[in-house]
Amino acid sequence: MRTVSDSELPESVWESEHFRLHPLSEGVYAAIATEMGAAFSNAGLIDMGERTLVYDAFENPQPAEDLLEASIQLTGRKPTTVIISHCHPDHWGGLQVFADCSILATSATRQAMLPIAKEMEQEQRDPSGLEKDLQATEARLAAETDPRQRQALEISVHRQRNNLLTLQSIKPTLPNQTSDGKIVFHGTARSVELIPTGKGHTESNCILQLPKERIAFIGDLGFFQQQPFMPYGFSPEWIALLNNLANGKAKTFVPGHGPLGRKADLLLEAQYIQAMENMIQQVIQRGGTAKDALRETLPPPFDAWQKIGHRYDANVRSSFKRQSQHTD
Ligand SMILES: [Zn+2]
Repeated sequence: MRTVSDSELPESVWESEHFRLHPLSEGVYAAIATEMGAAFSNAGLIDMGERTLVYDAFENPQPAEDLLEASIQLTGRKPTTVIISHCHPDHWGGLQVFADCSILATSATRQAMLPIAKEMEQEQRDPSGLEKDLQATEARLAAETDPRQRQALEISVHRQRNNLLTLQSIKPTLPNQTSDGKIVFHGTARSVELIPTGKGHTESNCILQLPKERIAFIGDLGFFQQQPFMPYGFSPEWIALLNNLANGKAKTFVPGHGPLGRKADLLLEAQYIQAMENMIQQVIQRGGTAKDALRETLPPPFDAWQKIGHRYDANVRSSFKRQSQHTD
């Protein structure tokens, strides 16, 4: 099986500095974040025939404004329903743009968003913590010589700077409707299914499936061609979900991060999570520390992924902590 390369992405039909909209079927668009925009995660735009649905709302209001504009231009109307895949704020920081919509999430996701929204308001009152984080990343960039690490750090600096610039413009907005069961939206053009999947990347995640078009928007259950972010995850459940999705009917998957993917991308991601857990288990079994684990290398192709960004460290440390507690 092969993974999808960028050259295989359907050509974008609408672009902003924050994302590109790729048509997956007539009226179904994947919004794939650009590296140096302010979206920082992918989203979806779906024309139901008589109304328009959005899946996830980016990290900031500006890309969400662009998605609203794209909705008007491509579907002839504003969205009326927004679905939030999970609680991480890079998927709902722009939600205020859709405040007049039905905003749906699972009850656990909404619950987990409450303290994050409070934290955002606290940061608006006192941004010194964010400023310190930015200075630390800038210092790491200044000292780094490896070109790939520098590239990852440049993206982090850009993201942290942007978040400080836009901080005061964000009005943390929460889902106004929750559901813990499947919902089927019936439109004149198509039907789509909102499916809560339980534990995986976080405590609660939900995906959007288009059965007829064989497309699934999977939020952060999917990180393609890059390391998944595991600190808030439940590895066995996540791996099982990825395998189930790969064995299901959908053929095209829109991840929360990275390009569009196929079943092979899901399986590769499941293998990464397992390889990470196995590596940590081996380090613990021979009496090693988290620092020892950080010096380890994952087998190919994951060794190439781990060089990029801070996620490797975060994954190693969180898995080490979790597994050490288990063996105590
Ligand atoms: Zn996430």
